[in-house]
Amino acid sequence: MKIGFIGLGNMGGPMVKNLIKNGHKLIINDIVKSLAEPLVALGAEAKNSPAEVVKSSGIEIVITMLPASTHVKEVYLGENGILKNIPKGICVIDSSTIDPQTARDVAKKSESQGNPMLDAPVSGGTGGAQSGTLTFMVGGDERIFNMAKPILTNMGKNIVHCGPSGNGQVAKVANNMLLGISMIGVAEAMSLGVSMGMDPNILAGIINSSSGRCWSSEVYNPYPGVVANAPASRNYTGGFGTDLMIKDLGLATEAATQINQSATMARTALKLYKDLSSQGDGALDFSAIIKLIDKNNS
Ligand code: NAD
Repeated sequence: MKIGFIGLGNMGGPMVKNLIKNGHKLIINDIVKSLAEPLVALGAEAKNSPAEVVKSSGIEIVITMLPASTHVKEVYLGENGILKNIPKGICVIDSSTIDPQTARDVAKKSESQGNPMLDAPVSGGTGGAQSGTLTFMVGGDERIFNMAKPILTNMGKNIVHCGPSGNGQVAKVANNMLLGISMIGVAEAMSLGVSMGMDPNILAGIINSSSGRCWSSEVYNPYPGVVANAPASRNYTGGFGTDLMIKDLGLATEAATQINQSATMARTALKLYKDLSSQGDGALDFSAIIKLIDKNNS
């Protein structure tokens, strides 16, 4: 297939590589021109704007992987953007993590001019993007989902239809809201136990075979040395940045405000991650939140 792809960053770059590996022809664009170079070396064709991408003859589908809602609005709705230039009938998929309302507004505009649109945010991080094992949470028409699924399968292993337009973003925001909160809970529990004399590995073993068990305790424990390949065991480098968690909890709390839900835990978690970021640790993995709790780790 001939696929347009816009946004070639930490996630988009490896996703493009997997599409090329699976035999697709890629027409690509990023405002940072140098990001296209390694992909052109693999056979992709670089263009100067989203408009040029969607005007390429024979394009069958367009995927975007951009930082946030403002970039998505610019790339879809701008003068040199997708919707003002794309031929009718071509399907577009936005895999950026953005607020559900913007996803729904852009999809409505796209569909009103005859371009079906899916929101398809991902989880699995840069490792999942590289290995082609991402989870895609997809919102939009089921028939379009079924058409797009084989392409998404080239970049991910778990492709889930979450319901109508915007629901992919709702699923993503709800999951990351829980992740941000649960990590702080594990950090507090580990910190309490170790400060009161427990060996961190024995304590983690108890939690992980008891009712406190969760992904944050088992796979991504914030206490150094408990999980050998977790960011906590390499000074919180790599992984999912605190500033990205702040972005996702911001989306979650904004969504909660729109529906008059208090989201007390998410708002408290957001404040704590912002405190961590403002002490200069925004680029560290979000499990570094334990630094605010445990004096031995600060
Ligand atoms: P990134 O900043 O590395 O990549 C985004 C790319 O979009 C950049 O290269 C940027 O130059 C490009 N871009 C911005 N505006 C543009 C425009 N107008 N035209 C063309 N290109 C433009 O971000 P990322 O880490 O690849 O994340 C992308 C999305 O995926 C974000 O929404 C993020 O929240 C989400 N996400 C990231 C991770 C992760 O671990 N990095 C995990 C899951 C989801």
